[in-house]
Amino acid sequence: MTRAFVTGWPVKHSRSPLIHNHWLVQHGIDGSYEKQPCDPDDFTSFISGFQNEGFVGGNVTLPYKEQTFALADEVDKVAKAVGAANTVWHENGKLHATNTDVYGFLANLDQQVPGWGEPERQRRGALILGAGGASRAIIYGLLERGFENITIANRTVSKAQNLARAFGHKCVAAGISALSDECLEAALIVNTTSIGMGDGQRPVDPSLFAKDAIVNDIVYAPLVTPLLATAKEAGMLTIDGLGMLLHQAVPGFERWFGVRPEVTDELRGLVLTDLGESA
Ligand code: NAP
Repeated sequence: MTRAFVTGWPVKHSRSPLIHNHWLVQHGIDGSYEKQPCDPDDFTSFISGFQNEGFVGGNVTLPYKEQTFALADEVDKVAKAVGAANTVWHENGKLHATNTDVYGFLANLDQQVPGWGEPERQRRGALILGAGGASRAIIYGLLERGFENITIANRTVSKAQNLARAFGHKCVAAGISALSDECLEAALIVNTTSIGMGDGQRPVDPSLFAKDAIVNDIVYAPLVTPLLATAKEAGMLTIDGLGMLLHQAVPGFERWFGVRPEVTDELRGLVLTDLGESA
């Protein structure tokens, strides 16, 4: 039996087992994907020796993504750009790590909004709300897809400035409460702050955005955040955060179990039900 894990502290709320075990059944694979809570004292020994416990690899979630990046023997260019890893495996005796949030973000938009990254939209650019780990992954993905200007707006402006400096001249920093008219004309707005996660708040007022903007909130609980609800009411195209969560699981599953799975409406429905949302 092939076994993979998700570890974090805590890890009990992770939806990853639901996703991976659905694919295991769907593909008739003799495998398992298990929650492995790991307290901070045990993390280094767990991540360095999980193969001795019978695992081929796994996912790492908060608060260990940066630590995993630092502990891995081999990290790919995506993990290097993000400075954090969420997917690990062993190869030739070495611990390998990557970051699949970049893939998850891009693949979700590719599936849901074909043409979302067309040249005219690349030129108009993106407004990214937040400057944490997820923001870093998304900025990297957008630059890889040719976006020509990206405004990073954050409550703590110094963190946005650090990110803008790290990613180069196509990125500028801003305070989230003082957005210029120019950056509000962005073709794509992505909320990567945790605002909207059950607090009833919006990071910014979407009525300020261009009417043809695509508004993506990567918060997925609730599925329709206050930001998305207002943007939708104003006629904008809105994309929820669940798709990114589902798509980011694809590369890990393929690596551990040898089959590239698909993100289907059936899988989305399964996770929605688990989240207490209607499919
Ligand atoms: P993080 O590194 O802790 O960053 C959190 C961000 O939220 C920071 O920019 C922080 O601003 C901002 N923030 C938090 N509370 C705020 C408030 N009250 N007012 C204004 N800004 C606030 O977290 P992360 O890992 O990037 O994750 C961010 C969110 O994305 C979480 O909700 C997470 O669940 C979600 N996420 C979803 C997916 C998916 O697959 N859909 C993947 C990854 C993450 P400061 O810098 O000023 O503190």
